Amino acid sequence: ESVIVAIDGPSGTGKSSTSKAVAAKLGLSYLDTGAQYRAITWWMISNGIDANDADAVADAAGKPVIVSGTDPSRPTITVDGVDASGPIRTEEVTSRVSAVSAVPEVRALITELQRSIARGAAGGIVVEGRDIGTTVLPDADLKIFLTASPEARAARRSGELKGADVRATREALVKRDAADSSRKTSPLAKAGDAVEVDTTELTLDQVIECVVTLVEE
Ligand code: C5P
Repeated sequence: ESVIVAIDGPSGTGKSSTSKAVAAKLGLSYLDTGAQYRAITWWMISNGIDANDADAVADAAGKPVIVSGTDPSRPTITVDGVDASGPIRTEEVTSRVSAVSAVPEVRALITELQRSIARGAAGGIVVEGRDIGTTVLPDADLKIFLTASPEARAARRSGELKGADVRATREALVKRDAADSSRKTSPLAKAGDAVEVDTTELTLDQVIECVVTLVEE
C-alpha cells in the first residue's frame, strides 16, 4: 500500500536531510515543496518581476512550468526545462521567496501541483514543507512537525553555507520564519494531529530513526 508522510517545520531543523533519508530508507518518493516556491521565485526574478508586487506576481504565477524529480537519491527541479537546482539556493532567491509564496495565486497553483505529484507517487511519498499537514495533504498517514532552537537552526544553516556569519544567518532565518508564519494563506503551522519532534539535541541519524519508527508503527 502507499503511504503519505508530511514533514513540516521552519528552516534549519534538518527537514530536507531527514525527509530524503526517510524516503530512501523506506523506498518512497520525495518532494521538496520549498524548492518549488524557490523555483517560481527564481523565475519571477529572471523575468524582471518585483517579488513585492503581489499583483504582478499573481498575474505571472501560471507562466513558469515547474517540474520536480522525486527520486530521494537525486531530487531535481526544472523551470521551463532548465535545471534550477543551483540558482534556487542563492541569497537573492532566499530573501524573496517568502514574499512570492505569500501570494494566494502562487499557493493555489503550487498546492495543486503538489497534490498531483503525491497522487501520482504509486509507492508512497515523503513531502516536506510548511503547510503540508495542514493544507496540502490533510489526509496524510503520518504528520511530523520538526522544531529546533533558533541557535541550533542558525548553526546548521551556517554550516551548510560554509562559514557564513551565524548571527546574520540567524537574523535572516528568524525573519523568514516570521513572514512564513504570519501570512494569511496557509502559513507555516503544526497540524493538530502532527507529532512534534524537537531536534535541538538530536543528531540527524537520531531524527531519521525516530521518523522511520513512527512510519513503521
Ligand atoms: O524549505 P525551504 O527553506 O527551501 O523553503 C523556502 C521558502 O518557501 C519558505 O521560506 C517559504 O516561504 C516557502 N514555502 C512555503 N510553503 C511550503 C514550503 C516552502 O511557503 N510548503
